[in-house]
Amino acid sequence: MPEAAGAPPVDHRRAPRDRSALVVKLLRRGEPILLTMLSVHVAVDTLAHDGPLVLTVAATIGQVIGALGLVWPLGPRAAACRAWYAVALLVGMSLDLDDRLIAFVPWYPILMLAFGLVFGLRRGYPLMAALLAPLTISMAAVFDGWSLPSRVIPPVIGGLVVAMITDALIESTAASKLAVAHERRLQTVIDTAPIGIMTSELDGTATLVNKLILEFLGVETPPAHTDEFLQYVHHGDAPIVAEILHAISVGHPVQRLCRVVHPALGMRYARITTARMTDAEGQLTGAAITIQDVDDDLDNRRKLEQFRKITDSTSDIIGVASTRPGVDYLNPAGQEFFGTDLISLDQVEHFIPPDYHSLMFGEVVDVIAEGASWSGEIEIYDRDGNRRATSAVVMGLFDDVGTLDSFAVIYRDIEERKQLESQLAFEAGHDLLTGLPNRQQLFHTLAATLRESEPVAVLFGDLDGFKVVNDSLGHGVGDRVLCSVAERLFEGARAGDLVGRLGGDEFVVVCREALTADAAIAIAERFIDVVRQPIEIDGREHVVSMSIGIAISTGDGGDTASELVQQADLAMYSAKRTGRRHVAVFDQEMRTRADHRLELEGELRVALRHGQIELRYQPIVNTTSGEVLGFEALARWNHPVRGMLRPKEFMHVVDSAGFAAALGELVVREAAATAAMMRLVAPHLTMSINLSSTQLVDARLVDVVADALAQAQLPASALSIEITEEIVMEELSKARPRLEALRQLGVRFAIDDFGTGYSNLAMLKQFPADYVKIDRSLIHGEAELVGLILSLTRELGFAAIAEGVETMEQLTELRRLGCHHAQGYYFSQPLETAEAMAYLANLHTIDLGPSSPTLRGAGDE
Ligand code: C2E
Ligand code: CA
Ligand code: CA
Repeated sequence: MPEAAGAPPVDHRRAPRDRSALVVKLLRRGEPILLTMLSVHVAVDTLAHDGPLVLTVAATIGQVIGALGLVWPLGPRAAACRAWYAVALLVGMSLDLDDRLIAFVPWYPILMLAFGLVFGLRRGYPLMAALLAPLTISMAAVFDGWSLPSRVIPPVIGGLVVAMITDALIESTAASKLAVAHERRLQTVIDTAPIGIMTSELDGTATLVNKLILEFLGVETPPAHTDEFLQYVHHGDAPIVAEILHAISVGHPVQRLCRVVHPALGMRYARITTARMTDAEGQLTGAAITIQDVDDDLDNRRKLEQFRKITDSTSDIIGVASTRPGVDYLNPAGQEFFGTDLISLDQVEHFIPPDYHSLMFGEVVDVIAEGASWSGEIEIYDRDGNRRATSAVVMGLFDDVGTLDSFAVIYRDIEERKQLESQLAFEAGHDLLTGLPNRQQLFHTLAATLRESEPVAVLFGDLDGFKVVNDSLGHGVGDRVLCSVAERLFEGARAGDLVGRLGGDEFVVVCREALTADAAIAIAERFIDVVRQPIEIDGREHVVSMSIGIAISTGDGGDTASELVQQADLAMYSAKRTGRRHVAVFDQEMRTRADHRLELEGELRVALRHGQIELRYQPIVNTTSGEVLGFEALARWNHPVRGMLRPKEFMHVVDSAGFAAALGELVVREAAATAAMMRLVAPHLTMSINLSSTQLVDARLVDVVADALAQAQLPASALSIEITEEIVMEELSKARPRLEALRQLGVRFAIDDFGTGYSNLAMLKQFPADYVKIDRSLIHGEAELVGLILSLTRELGFAAIAEGVETMEQLTELRRLGCHHAQGYYFSQPLETAEAMAYLANLHTIDLGPSSPTLRGAGDE
């Protein structure tokens, strides 16, 4: 059958009708109809004229076959079977000779015609020939008596006529088949052509439209009329389209450029060319139109599509601004950022802050004009007019002749990163609690100032007793105190001053001007004053004071930042030592002292490790009997160069350099061991040791003491710990837990240097020591005061030991006042262990005075 497979034409509506195919199709459908009709005819005839039964049955079957063929035509084989059945039926009918057979004559040509058409010449002729048999038979029957020629000629002529008609019909069918094939080939060629092709009738009806045109316009159904092109064309180019349409109608070939708007790709430039189409007589019938994408070939278009996909999905802003129409572009991220679809070249400046104009339109344009690209950081305005930091890449796009006509820009929004960076930079240079510049920042700025050889005064402030505030009130309060101090210093500073916090409770103010020492002191005192004002926290007022050390640089370039701060620190340290709320200006002596101190620290570290610390023992005796009640252990430093050093010369370093605990342990262990040994001679003997406030806060102290006692097998009651009146008054609360624990052990306590401070009775009650040691300064003259203290202590239940007894008079006086225990050079210098043992063994003489003249020692025996 002629329904050849192949690509369907683009436009079925407009494809020319295949008429011969239609006839064949109709006949194909008609072939079972013919069988049915013939069968009905035969059946009716045989029944009406008492024909043979076999024919009636065959006709009935023929009806069924025909009817079934009508519903299910099946293949050509079934069609052939039906055709042969029809022939057989007709032959059968012809054999039943009768006049009425004339009624069947029309069937011969009908069937011949049908077979010729349906089965083609080759297969149709046998059928047609077969039909000649019943025809001849029936002719012979009807025209009985006719001569042979008259019997033969009519069927031959009839057959020839039928064959000729059939042939003619088949011929025309083949011709139209060829036409269809030809048209299809053309369509295929047109569809695969690399340019858009269509044809138009004179009235503008679009006939052939190839695929590329659909692709080019971004549509699926082809336009029915050339007028429809208007809707795909940029409105500015409507006149061009009108011109093209006119050219088509009058048969003028034209070539025009116009802009086509593609739904996905945007604006494209198309070259439209028209050519006359004429019929065989050269009469104008319409136009062939080609449309060519001049911007790009198909590959580039695909690339562009991929590029668009990328630019659509990136969060970077990508835009093109051009003097060429239709080149402007802004990707979705850019549209979102700028709040507009496109930014034309003349709008660009509105999105760039004025302070960047000279960069963007000067330097950047210069760079890209030379064909290079520019990259750097630049701020732009976003849709809300906010400045945003971006990192940008700008490129130039050039036209065919190399003129710079477009700018392509890629912006990456780095505002958040910038903010983070500046925040980090701030945090790195600032103290998070107070917001003041921190140590690094301060040193950095100070160093920069010094490099400029500017004169500066560095004020180093440290809060007095801030540790107590922190410890007793908690860090929350401590932090708020620090914040308010920072605020006051900041507000109190002048415009050019630099206020920073070094950490803890240390603040620095750098005054960047030439100041005399007096002027600097005046400034420092002002700061001290503002800091001293009560600070209210949660309804409670807190008062803190500050000590300030000052270091001055004249700007001669000789000082480094860290030197200056260190000098001010030393000055502050010395200000603190002289008392609270004080100011000191650095002088060279402070440096010497500090250096000395540093040296001493190093040496002391060695001393502790190499056993250079030794103990001397000074006896405590009964003022009446001269009996040795115990010893006080006193530390000495056997310095390899400077000889035997007394505590006064090194004790301050012990505490500040962190050796307190080590020294305390050393003293406790050695004193306990010595005491244990001495008690072999004098079983009731006690050993006194001295502990500083730093030693008293050491957490390990209790364990160390307990362990020392255990090691020496010394009962705790044989150990007495002396703490100064000053400690009892000022740091009792801090030391109390340790003291209580020691008391639990059974250790005794003495208040040392009693009478030098202002201890009140309440305080003494709070710390019930076992005895007090009356300070040497009172013994040397203040007899009345000593008397008062003795009666006071007696009343409170303390025993009293007089310190620093040097003369017989002092001893006599003490005895008169009722003081039973004493210690001093009059009895003995602090002694080495062996000497102390000898002293215990009475190998000496003491004059105890007139009231009880007792001779002790060797001569006593
Ligand atoms: P302190 O506890 O008041 O010790 C008595 C000081 O007076 C000793 O000085 C002693 O040598 C001295 N002294 C004794 N009798 C007389 C006298 O008749 N006249 C005079 N003018 N002075 C006398 P030293 O040994 O120089 O000790 C000074 C201070 O050092 C002691 O004062 C004590 O507070 C402290 N200290 C001594 N050893 C230690 C120790 O191992 N640990 C601690 N934390 N402090 C110690
Ligand atoms: Ca003492
Ligand atoms: Ca003392």
